[in-house]
Amino acid sequence: MRIVLLGAPGAGKGTQCKRIVAKYGVVHLSSGDILRQERAAGTELGKKAQSYMDSGGLVPDNLIVEMMVGAINKASQKGFVLDGFPRTVNQAAELDKLLGRNGKKIDAVLNLEINEQVVVKRMSGRRSCSKCGAVYHIENLKPKTDGICDHDGTKLVQRPDDNPDVVTNRLKTYHQQTRPVVDYYKNNNAVCNINANEDADKVSTLMFKKLDALVLA
Ligand SMILES: [Zn+2]
Repeated sequence: MRIVLLGAPGAGKGTQCKRIVAKYGVVHLSSGDILRQERAAGTELGKKAQSYMDSGGLVPDNLIVEMMVGAINKASQKGFVLDGFPRTVNQAAELDKLLGRNGKKIDAVLNLEINEQVVVKRMSGRRSCSKCGAVYHIENLKPKTDGICDHDGTKLVQRPDDNPDVVTNRLKTYHQQTRPVVDYYKNNNAVCNINANEDADKVSTLMFKKLDALVLA
């Protein structure tokens, strides 16, 4: 099963991806994680991406697509769920083209729809571990000890990305850049809109209903 999970920053994509992985045995392919891994491993792609980031620019679409398709090709037979990718219509079209060459396509596009005030509240409460990448929330997902990662005891920090002003900016970018991806998939696949203002368990239930129907089809 090849799934794309879309949604504004803070819609809970990471959490829901993990649940999809646990239930259906697909691989979670997060563009952020893969980019970090490529950079950490010092691969050719990682170095190229790093040079764009060092100069304060965005990593270009073709580089991101190459990186993600590499990960897709290594994914298991059970399939994958894409998180944070495709981020632009250009990336989505390129992905379809490359999958199409192998006679494959995206089977499901889940779009987590969320109210912006809910996003700002969720994201400004997030705390992350800079060592292992684990994410917590000061209200909804507390670590066992305040401010400390459960896995490795590292002091948790608020990523610059989760600062309320930055969140507002990221939402703006999302609307300009990624919202058109939803429309792109509306024209090419069946997009399932999921109300993501609810708590994570309700969102999972809605998602699983859609995905179960696909598995049985
Ligand atoms: Zn940690």
